[in-house]
Amino acid sequence: MVSKYDFVNKDTRSLIALEERYGAHNYAPLPVVLREGKGVFVWDVEGKEYFDFLSGYSSLNQGHCHPKIVNALIEQAQKLTLTSRAFHSELLAEYAAYITDYFGYDKVLPMNSGVEAVETALKLARKWAYTVKGIPPDRAKIITVSENFHGRTLNVISFSTDPKAKKGFGPFMSGYISIPYNDLEALAEAVADAQVAAFLVEPIQGEAGVRVPDAGYLTGAYRLCKEAGVLFIGDEIQTGLARTGRMLACDYEDVRPDILILGKALSGGMLPISAVLCDDNIMLCLKPGEHGSTYGGNPLACAVAMAALEVLNEENLVSNAETQGAYFRDRLRALEHPNIAEIRGKGLLNAVVLRHDHADAAESLCLEMLRNGLLAKPTHGDKIRFSPPLVITRDEMDRALAIIEQSLAACF
Ligand code: PLP
Repeated sequence: MVSKYDFVNKDTRSLIALEERYGAHNYAPLPVVLREGKGVFVWDVEGKEYFDFLSGYSSLNQGHCHPKIVNALIEQAQKLTLTSRAFHSELLAEYAAYITDYFGYDKVLPMNSGVEAVETALKLARKWAYTVKGIPPDRAKIITVSENFHGRTLNVISFSTDPKAKKGFGPFMSGYISIPYNDLEALAEAVADAQVAAFLVEPIQGEAGVRVPDAGYLTGAYRLCKEAGVLFIGDEIQTGLARTGRMLACDYEDVRPDILILGKALSGGMLPISAVLCDDNIMLCLKPGEHGSTYGGNPLACAVAMAALEVLNEENLVSNAETQGAYFRDRLRALEHPNIAEIRGKGLLNAVVLRHDHADAAESLCLEMLRNGLLAKPTHGDKIRFSPPLVITRDEMDRALAIIEQSLAACF
């Protein structure tokens, strides 16, 4: 039987039109329709090859369709995929032991999407505040920072400072204090409030345009939290798992978050897999029935996450991210391009801030790079994020840089 989806003409335009006709318009994708991926490359429906310099917003650290992760997925998919947490599973036991040893925490709480893990961390912090810190019921506060990005649920956008994320979605959840990012004085003042349970922070703000705080910010923030008896929650969903040239971006300052949140590359781009890690004094505040998720910790996810974490070590992706990232920034800085105001980032989480006189300069440059075979997206107006898979080689980086240079020359 021929369905309405058996369209004859599968060209780019008709697929975009089909998606726009039947899909919600909550994203504004570049006009490319992808069909395949391998390592640092993707191919569109017309067979054209592109460097993927977005990596699923830093989910594809291990590269597209990594064979080891694909094999783990296929093997486990043929054995057991979902038990729910009503029963134990062999894989959850193995994974929990594996990931807690990997990151050095007592316990893990497995979830699916990144924002669910953020919600989990916030619930844990509140529970801890009432059961351990002794904050009166329903009074716990959580400190958040300006220009944060932690996901899209109603609770999480309640403390967003981006009007676009919030407009039209109120009323919002209370219990959050907002302070400027990279401001230890403001944090010192905020943690002095005895009803503060936790400080939630991205060690580098990814969505805000790869904002790297001053050296010493994380150490200082952690120390202030410790002195005040406040939990430090590190959202490493985008920065973690080798992306910034360390296993965790917090490692740059030897900070061990009290609650660590991971997502994205925890599955190497295969499935939504996230995790919250902390020690027993916090995790055991949660009792059976107080929190959960049908798919959280499913055997398929556990097998995929273990393979994805193994690949990071086996392929030395921490060190490759550091080396290739430094090379990328050096090469772009050496251009001394008049339209590049700033190149910033760590490892392979980088952004180029453009100097321009027209509002859509970043979008135009991304379209030019698309034409020339490299995918990247503007973030927050005049910034373009460059975050390729961490498996990128020097030769591939040279070819990608040539495309970026060529596109800059064409646009400015
Ligand atoms: N936290 C950070 C730092 C992120 O960058 C993101 C996504 O970009 C999220 C949370 C939300 O993750 P998800 O989109 O998987 O819910």
